[in-house]
Amino acid sequence: MPSARRNIKYQIATALTIAGLDPTGGAGITADALRFAREGVHPLSVATAVTTQTTRGVSRAAPVPVVELRAQLRALFSDIHILSVKTGLIPSAAHVRAIVDAIPARVPIVVDPVVASSGGYAFVDAAGARAIGKLLIPRAALVTPNLDEAELLSGVCSHSREGAARAGKLILQMGAGAVLIKGGHGDGAFVEDLLVTRRGVRVFRSRRIAGSAHGTGCALSAVIAARLALGDDLETAIAKARSRVRADLRAAFALGRGRPTLGL
Ligand code: PLP
Repeated sequence: MPSARRNIKYQIATALTIAGLDPTGGAGITADALRFAREGVHPLSVATAVTTQTTRGVSRAAPVPVVELRAQLRALFSDIHILSVKTGLIPSAAHVRAIVDAIPARVPIVVDPVVASSGGYAFVDAAGARAIGKLLIPRAALVTPNLDEAELLSGVCSHSREGAARAGKLILQMGAGAVLIKGGHGDGAFVEDLLVTRRGVRVFRSRRIAGSAHGTGCALSAVIAARLALGDDLETAIAKARSRVRADLRAAFALGRGRPTLGL
């Protein structure tokens, strides 16, 4: 009787994305899985919500029942050695609790605290946003808010370097291992992303690439999670992810009639 393991030649690094399903593939679990695979990391994906959207915007988001989320996470963690997790859209406090309960303490979590689409569609209710701050951020190896999300989480205006550093420190005090405040939604000729850790603040700076493609935030946190699964340290993972996403931005293309989609 041939063993089921007979054809396994080598073990491959495996990362898990827990986020929304965007049927256009521009954001959410599909975009994350594509980027895991590009790094050579096997993609596992669990949907928290099923969205209806076009390249012009989001019109609906239906939460996946919490009982299904719990069942899927339990199944994956009972069977597979998962090396890192990325979280994106999490629609409610009950979904946050299911995620926090399921992930073993040894697994690094990159938390992209998505609250709304760029077009303003609210993905998360108020209790859900509070639960992300209270329950998930203390478990995060890295939190990757944009300027608006940093402001929402910290209560501090983040639209200056000093403000962003202060917001980052406050989010760090909520228990995160590190905070990367993404400056992409700011203005100016350069994008500054601030990495705030207990050792201080490091600025990642690069020339701004014109245009705003759908899925940039998802892609950055997904590549970081993939690199952590491969054993990169946090700063190397961030530097590589920024350079991959910059290349993806240069390759952005018109998938539909609305916003460009990030290239691969
Ligand atoms: N759809 C899903 C499933 C997402 O996770 C996100 C963002 O994270 C979006 C849509 C919104 O993407 P954008 O900010 O590019 O509008």
